[in-house]
Amino acid sequence: MSKQLQAMLEHNRHFVETKAYEPYLTSKLPNKKAVILTCMDARLIELLPKALGLQNGDAKVVKNAGAVVTSLEDSIVRSILVALYELEAEEVYVIGHHGCGMIGMEGSNIVEKAKSRSSTAAQIADTFESEAQAGAWLNGFTTVEENVSDSVQLLRTHPLLPDDTAVHGLVIHPETGAVDVVTEET
Ligand SMILES: [Zn+2]
Repeated sequence: MSKQLQAMLEHNRHFVETKAYEPYLTSKLPNKKAVILTCMDARLIELLPKALGLQNGDAKVVKNAGAVVTSLEDSIVRSILVALYELEAEEVYVIGHHGCGMIGMEGSNIVEKAKSRSSTAAQIADTFESEAQAGAWLNGFTTVEENVSDSVQLLRTHPLLPDDTAVHGLVIHPETGAVDVVTEET
């Protein structure tokens, strides 16, 4: 077992034994009826909820690299629809951030690295039609604002999105937590 995992499990035992979980008890339904799509960036773990005044239990949060909705069938969309239809969420917030690692990221670089680190890289074409396609799938985006509005647009036009769902697009600063509105819906 890795040292880090060992330390985490030790912390966990103490956390549970001392009932440190008590301040976080809440229900599975989001109190603020919100579902947030944001980036997996480690700087946002605590900063984003604090900067927006969100407590444990207030929102459903879905994360991926870049806060991107890539297609109408994206698993991110599935999660958002589950939140809207089954968990009483009513508003969607797509929150990108400045300094995102996905800005200008070239998927082909990852494919090249995979060739030296993955013993199954020769089978890329079994999953993707070509290496180029795998690279395109991994590509980042040009600007945060553009990605946020593209993702918002894709969600707004989704055939399964309830008509009365507001989809907002925001960008957060990963140090100050300052938020700018890219696109809002009233
Ligand atoms: Zn990011």
